[in-house]
Amino acid sequence: MGQVLFIGVFGAASVALLLWLGMARRILASVRGSEERYRLLFDSAGDAIVMVDETSGRILDANRTALSWTGRSAADLIGDRFVHLFTQPLAGQVDGKATANALLGADGGVRPVETQSNVASWGALPVRQAIIRDISERVAMEQERRVAAEALASIAEGVIIADAERRVISTNAAQTELTGFTQGALQGRRLEETRCLPDGRVLPRSVWDGIAAGRNWIGEVQSTRSDGSHYPEQLSISAIRDADNLVVYYVAVFTNIHETKRQQRRLEHLARHDPLTGLANRAEFERRCADAIAVAERERLAVVVLFIDLDAFKIVNDSYSHAVGDRLLAKVAERIRNQLSDGDVAGRIGGDEFTVLLSRQGLREDARPLVGRLLAALAEPLVVDDYEVVLSASIGVAGYPLDGDSPQSLIANADAAMYAAKMEERNTFRFYTPMMHADTRRRLQMAAELRQALARDEFRLVFQPSVEMRTGRIVAVEALLRWQHPEHGEVMPGDFIPVAEGMGMIRRIDEWVMQAACAQIQAWDAAGVPPIRVAVNISARWFGHPAFVDGVSLALGMRQLPAQRLLLEITESAMLRLGDATARTMQTLATMGIEVAIDDFGTGYSSMAYLKLPAVAYLKIDRSFITGLPASANDAAITEAMLVMAKSLGLFTIAEGIETEAQHEFLLRAGCNEGQGYLYSYPLRPDEIQRLLSPSQQVVPTRLRLVPPKRR
Ligand code: C2E
Ligand code: MG
Ligand code: MG
Repeated sequence: MGQVLFIGVFGAASVALLLWLGMARRILASVRGSEERYRLLFDSAGDAIVMVDETSGRILDANRTALSWTGRSAADLIGDRFVHLFTQPLAGQVDGKATANALLGADGGVRPVETQSNVASWGALPVRQAIIRDISERVAMEQERRVAAEALASIAEGVIIADAERRVISTNAAQTELTGFTQGALQGRRLEETRCLPDGRVLPRSVWDGIAAGRNWIGEVQSTRSDGSHYPEQLSISAIRDADNLVVYYVAVFTNIHETKRQQRRLEHLARHDPLTGLANRAEFERRCADAIAVAERERLAVVVLFIDLDAFKIVNDSYSHAVGDRLLAKVAERIRNQLSDGDVAGRIGGDEFTVLLSRQGLREDARPLVGRLLAALAEPLVVDDYEVVLSASIGVAGYPLDGDSPQSLIANADAAMYAAKMEERNTFRFYTPMMHADTRRRLQMAAELRQALARDEFRLVFQPSVEMRTGRIVAVEALLRWQHPEHGEVMPGDFIPVAEGMGMIRRIDEWVMQAACAQIQAWDAAGVPPIRVAVNISARWFGHPAFVDGVSLALGMRQLPAQRLLLEITESAMLRLGDATARTMQTLATMGIEVAIDDFGTGYSSMAYLKLPAVAYLKIDRSFITGLPASANDAAITEAMLVMAKSLGLFTIAEGIETEAQHEFLLRAGCNEGQGYLYSYPLRPDEIQRLLSPSQQVVPTRLRLVPPKRR
């Protein structure tokens, strides 16, 4: 029984033990399994998890993420102080509350993190369980947002952000600066409420349709400021969409383009206008002209083009500084403009060439009164700086449809007419005739030939005697230029000198004349001809040139001629044009002992001031007064007055163009000193002069023709 009992108890105990063992194994297996699961969980967490002994602050355990972020092994990490993981102290850490810090990385870098910890108990051990979350992405995004916000606040462009209904949500500082509206004032209002198209229309639907379709809209609008004023705005609107591609925000960016537009207009103006005078330049003038022709063609009207050329402007420009020349042109432009009506266009198409366009005219001849006014206005003395300059103008007139049907042909024909005017007399105008074109062609041809004339030695001098009225003695000769043209024969100075002046060649021609005259004086001296005074005509161009005096003294010096052998003839109008420069040059000439005759006296604006200049010793009374003598009471009175005046100023007088005995008688009685004219002699070749002056010929009675009347 006892044995049975023992076996029973033992059996039961064994079963119980087996059962316990089985249970214990199961419990152990389950514990091991949950620990593995825990470990797996622990290690696979995206955040770093670190277990820290709360008392010592030392790390008890760390998950794989923690190892990876710190770049340290578990062995290295465990036992180290938790605080060593961060750049900042952990003070102020509150259970369950996330605090930002920076985790030290393996490579010395830091990772922005947020730590959150709780204290738990591992048995009796208080353990802090710290979860470290990587917040670099959030930090970067925040940074980006801050940069964007700052950029928005600081950019010069105005920015408005509006909701899907286009109601303003937010604006930047520049917006307020540009429009005067604060963000608050605009909030809830439609962003286009204070904007319209430049022509005043509201922004059309197409703008919003375009944006809805995904396109940016960029355009110019008129924006209203808070004070009610307007300004032009360059506006760009785009949309921000959500994941479903629906518009959630509108972003409008804008700038004030008032200044840009002003600059643009200024550039356009510069491209179309002459910067010196502000008048239309050639391209703009032609464009306006073409427009006017088109209108005239439709409405059967006329268009008139005036071509205005300043007489002798080049001389002024050479004699004064170019700055004075420029100011003079600006004043001329102003005078022209003052004469015009609204709709007329003034242009400057060359140095001293101006044009005027008159549209909607009935007839070309309707321009006549304006042309008269322009001539009068331009002949008025101009004061530039301290100088008073007298200019005059020549004007050519051409009209559509009579004289041309394109801007180019009208301008070219008005130019030809201007040239014809200038050739005949200065300070006048001409209407275009087809004949003038032939003249223009001839002029161009002549200019080309004239260029070669100096090199080919085609110029020569003839000399017209000047006779002492009382005795009939030849006391002087005047050198007059002739051009021996290879085909046309002898060309007179009146035909080619204006062309040479226009080409800027006259100075070189004058210099040649001076050299040739001095050479001739030397040759006559060598031939034993009694010494007489030789007069040389000087153009205003050369006289006004800085090298003029040197040129004259060089010519004299080369031949060792005394200054008294030479007389310089300068026209009254040339002296007037040169203004102050005249006085300076005259002073120098006087100190050199060179005398000057005022040629063609009485034809310009006579100025007593010039008669008193130091070198001026002779007055040549223009032929136009002599022709009418003695019959014309007017001419007689003027001539007598001029002779009296000259005498009172101590000037010698020479009458030009004496052709009749009666003229000679009159002038002799009136007290004229010398005379020149066909009555005494035509201009002669040097050898003829030599023969005339040789001692045997010297006793010639007064009022007898010295040479048979032969032309030239
Ligand atoms: P000017 O200096 O007044 O010269 C006088 C002009 O009148 C000369 O014409 C002369 O031939 C002409 N003449 C003289 N007596 C009579 C007369 O009794 N009746 C008429 N009808 N005419 C007379 P020319 O040689 O044709 O010269 C014309 C102008 O050309 C000159 O006027 C002068 O201004 C200019 N000229 C002539 N030679 C030169 C020169 O070498 N250099 C420059 N710069 N100009 C010159
Ligand atoms: Mg002369
Ligand atoms: Mg003369």
